[in-house]
Amino acid sequence: MYYIDPHIHMVSRTTDDYATLARMGCVAMSEPAFWAGYDRGSADGFRDYFRQLTEVEPARAAQFGIRHFCWLCINAKEAENVQLSRDVLKLIPEFLDCANVLGIGEIGLNKNTRNEAIIFQEHVELAIEHQQAVLIHTPHLEDKHQGTKMILDMLADHPELAPGSVLVDHVEEHTVKAVLDAGYWAGMTLYPVTKCTPSRAVDIIEMVGAERLCVNSAGDWGPSKPTAVPDLIMEMRRRGHRESLIRKIVFDNPREFFQQSKNFDLADPANR
Ligand SMILES: [Zn+2]
Repeated sequence: MYYIDPHIHMVSRTTDDYATLARMGCVAMSEPAFWAGYDRGSADGFRDYFRQLTEVEPARAAQFGIRHFCWLCINAKEAENVQLSRDVLKLIPEFLDCANVLGIGEIGLNKNTRNEAIIFQEHVELAIEHQQAVLIHTPHLEDKHQGTKMILDMLADHPELAPGSVLVDHVEEHTVKAVLDAGYWAGMTLYPVTKCTPSRAVDIIEMVGAERLCVNSAGDWGPSKPTAVPDLIMEMRRRGHRESLIRKIVFDNPREFFQQSKNFDLADPANR
């Protein structure tokens, strides 16, 4: 089955990973801007990173027939440095017209600090000003419930940002309903440690249904598994779910969310 991985950090992966993903049916991916494995020392470091996301990775993916899209921001892990964050925010508009940019992300909270919240809100204002979709990172483990609540409260202060143009990622059993009930899209991240396993993700699909729900691998600097979405496909098949439901989760839903961005033009491979 062909699929989209809506959240994968390919700058941290090898070219062999692209080849494996293509063989497993990945036809498109989106890469949110995130931590580079180290804290960057200047806004120029981010300018180079944004060029990597908008020029280098799409070319690397194209070698394997995969479409690569991306999101731009300074992530919550580095947002503690407010001055650096504001310098990076000023850079973003010049990249928004690049052919593979879908919006602002992954913004959010890491340790739920005041500075993270300030920079989160400034990103939301930038997204509203430039009519961009938004992809949001929620914190992990013990910080997740509180952080998700803080994020939903801050978003509620911006009614001009349509809930349907926002995806709140890394949801789990205790946060998914609040996100969906408020009208946002939700993403589940499949991960060997922290985050969700494929079998927990299928439990959640069975609990809340498939509307506005996506699944991704994160594929980042940590001990992650870039082929986690095919693992979910196998788990859904093992439990006897219909192919059309599986396809909705791994292809139709991310495609529908991404289609709000003027730069997303992925045709259904079945109609080529
Ligand atoms: Zn991420």
